[in-house]
Amino acid sequence: MAVSHPNRHTAIDPVKASVDWWDTCSRAAEIGWTRAVGTAAVNASAARRVDELLRFARLQSPFYREHWRTLPSDRLALRDVPVVTKSDLMGRFDDWATDRSVTSSAVAEFLADRSHIGQLFLGKYLVWKSSGSTGEPGVFVQDSAALAVYDALLAVEMQSPRVASRYAWGFLAQGGRAALVVATGDHFASIASWQRVCRGTPWPNARAFSVMEPMSDLVAQLNAYQPAFLASYPTTLALLAEERRAGRLTIAPTCLWSGGEYLSASSRAGIERAFGALVVNEYGASECMSIAHSCAEGRLHVHGDWVMLEPVDHDYRPTPVGEPSHTALLTNLANRIQPVIRYDLGDSITVSPTPCGCGSTLPSIRAEGRRDDVLSLRARDGQYVRLSPLALTSVVEDVTVDHRFQLVQCAPDRIDVRLAVSEPRQRSAQWHAVQRALSQYLARQSLDNVELHLASQPPVPDPRSGKVREVIASSESSESSDSN
Ligand SMILES: [Zn+2]
Repeated sequence: MAVSHPNRHTAIDPVKASVDWWDTCSRAAEIGWTRAVGTAAVNASAARRVDELLRFARLQSPFYREHWRTLPSDRLALRDVPVVTKSDLMGRFDDWATDRSVTSSAVAEFLADRSHIGQLFLGKYLVWKSSGSTGEPGVFVQDSAALAVYDALLAVEMQSPRVASRYAWGFLAQGGRAALVVATGDHFASIASWQRVCRGTPWPNARAFSVMEPMSDLVAQLNAYQPAFLASYPTTLALLAEERRAGRLTIAPTCLWSGGEYLSASSRAGIERAFGALVVNEYGASECMSIAHSCAEGRLHVHGDWVMLEPVDHDYRPTPVGEPSHTALLTNLANRIQPVIRYDLGDSITVSPTPCGCGSTLPSIRAEGRRDDVLSLRARDGQYVRLSPLALTSVVEDVTVDHRFQLVQCAPDRIDVRLAVSEPRQRSAQWHAVQRALSQYLARQSLDNVELHLASQPPVPDPRSGKVREVIASSESSESSDSN
């Protein structure tokens, strides 16, 4: 049995895991009960949690204590609390945490070792990093209570009438095998949490497959594994759906899970048709693993009992219901180690003005999350190979660490790389590292003929959203961006 020592990063402890499992079950039961009572119960439980979180943050986080020093000493209301951004929090990482042993240097040392992926930092915290949709790197620490809540939210979704019978059938007929097709090479939220989830609920028997594999290899591996559940990014699911339609992929999952990127209604319908299975779409972020889930009507329902999501304009004033917001302020009521309170998430959301036909008591939204393009590149033999944007960004993020980048496909066999770093020596070192990593990756996809060029300009934000899209497919979109 693994014994947790304050200075050790332990593997999953089976005794602790079963305690966590019961914690998840009781959370799931509580969530189900609250939601069954209705909107008032959901709101009341959120209000109580907001109150507790604000008091806790002020007491335990030196950053918030200082940030809120001019606010009344008791009975804070969420709407009075000043907004925080990723740079505010990352810039004060040690003071932001509510446990003094969680420091940026200790976390950096932990993350530097890839063998720690899915292991617990200091024996109790899960850590992941992200570039996020603004391209700014972040490191996020989750405590065990938050992880139990994320698991419970997914478990509740799996027990919903729409999903439950397919989920149960997947267990009975296919042994409940789950395939997670994700970026496996680093401490990303999806793989870090899924490696951990492999021990318990709700995927009892899960195996991770690398999104970096050439498609033909991935298809062969999935065919051999025959999963009952398939979880991946929307763009990867869409690529796998093409393989299914072409008859090369012969798996018959009963339930699909998508997350990590924007899923359009048409893409969702195409995936569901190809597999004859439901897609459960999760809208989440590194700052809060599970913000909302999709329902049978295709809307996203915010977990209003565990998450506060405020649509706001450019000046952080509330956006009316039915109108797309400039950004959204996120408050994560589950995680205490790094309190996320009125955090500028950067995503545009639209709150639906009408109740949803599915009967859910939770508010529903439309969210515009990460939107990168699938690249279709021409190989030496004239065949086109399609690549998932998350595979490409994982390859580049691996070697760019703290810098922004943008990949623009300018021709069938050419990718321009835009780097944000300007200092000549750093820039040259980074370009060589990106070139090496991308060339190796492309060669494995039978695309060793694809030319890579270092673009003179830095990454260009999307003129509408202001976000840096990291992978852009067409030369038209790059030209329109460049003119801004
Ligand atoms: Zn609904």
